[in-house]
Amino acid sequence: MKPSPTWIFDFDSTLVAAEALDELAEIALAGDAGRETRLARIREITAMGMDGRMSIERSLGERLAMLALRPHMLPPLVDRLAARFAPSVWQGRARLAAMAERVWVVSGGFHEWVEPVIARLGLRTTQVIANRLRPTASGLLELDPAASPCAVDSGMATAIEAANLGRPRVMVGDGMTDWRVRELGACERFVCFTEVVRRDPVASRADVVAGSLDDVLATG
Ligand SMILES: [Mg+2]
Repeated sequence: MKPSPTWIFDFDSTLVAAEALDELAEIALAGDAGRETRLARIREITAMGMDGRMSIERSLGERLAMLALRPHMLPPLVDRLAARFAPSVWQGRARLAAMAERVWVVSGGFHEWVEPVIARLGLRTTQVIANRLRPTASGLLELDPAASPCAVDSGMATAIEAANLGRPRVMVGDGMTDWRVRELGACERFVCFTEVVRRDPVASRADVVAGSLDDVLATG
């Protein structure tokens, strides 16, 4: 019998059919006169980070700098994301919850919203590897570099190794940073998840391409 893998799920455009920073921008820039221009630029930077045309650190830093993020924006963000789970993930939430012990979520986003959102799937908030925010003196929130292992290129792989997750490990995601986990040897298999978005440079490198949660779990 094959050993049960540890499943490592990406968050944005995998568990949820959205990119959290794009959603955050919609909230943060509501009422901003230059809103449409800034939103378009933020979406462009997100895409460049996802398909490997810009480093993750730079992509994240540039987007955060364009948003004056404040704590009151987080609850509406969590509600928006929790309303947009990938359809097969929401349908399969009981199955995910039943195997929660072996499910981790790894994200270039932030604990502050990933944890409350995945809790609604019955997943464990203690099994999240992501970045953290910290308050500034002026009440804004910014990236906490000392607690943000996924904000640097290759950081996800390093953080997964440091957490010493059981093997074999299967990484499931849509982006180039997710594939890097496999390339760097921090997982045995990479499943390119295409239900939300299909990125050809990622799909072409994947061990398996899966269009639904059932297809993902069938590879285990
Ligand atoms: Mg993603």
